[in-house]
Amino acid sequence: MTDEGAIGVAGLCLALTAILPAAALAETPQGQPHVHGKANLSLVIEETALTIEFTAPLHDLAGFEHEPKDAADRKALAQLREKLKTPQAVVNLPASAGCGTRSATIEGLGSNDHPHDRDDDDHPEREDHGHTDVIATYALTCSALKSVSTVDVTVLTTFPTIISVEVTVLGPSMQFARKLTGANTLLRLR
Ligand SMILES: [Zn+2]
Repeated sequence: MTDEGAIGVAGLCLALTAILPAAALAETPQGQPHVHGKANLSLVIEETALTIEFTAPLHDLAGFEHEPKDAADRKALAQLREKLKTPQAVVNLPASAGCGTRSATIEGLGSNDHPHDRDDDDHPEREDHGHTDVIATYALTCSALKSVSTVDVTVLTTFPTIISVEVTVLGPSMQFARKLTGANTLLRLR
């Protein structure tokens, strides 16, 4: 009886996979399909350290997902790289939090990515089916993280083609997920 139930669920998953348009899907490093218009943001809080990871389809950030073909494409990618250098592109923390950015890493924008990671299975390089994820990771140190009650998630205003952001927050006394859309950009921490 339990076996039949398990088969039923597996069959349903296969059916759903078949229905989803192949053009809108790609494998992300997490093995989940990437869907245009949807981004992910994770905030990990540890004492005074805040790690922010932002993952989005390149299509939503640059307007295209192919290899840069001309000067205009290369310029767009350079501008995107510049924009993503500061965490304010995705999250705005109150000044009272006293945060400083220790490092910013951007992957998925082409040849300037970590060449030493080429053989890494987790590396978000261009997939055969033409989709690319951009992953921006920021490490911050904040003097007063505990005082922060709300965080403004700026992803939706920085990148208007992104229609929803799945946010996950992991901290010493909190663990939750929120989906932000439209004008709903404030993330309440407490
Ligand atoms: Zn794509």
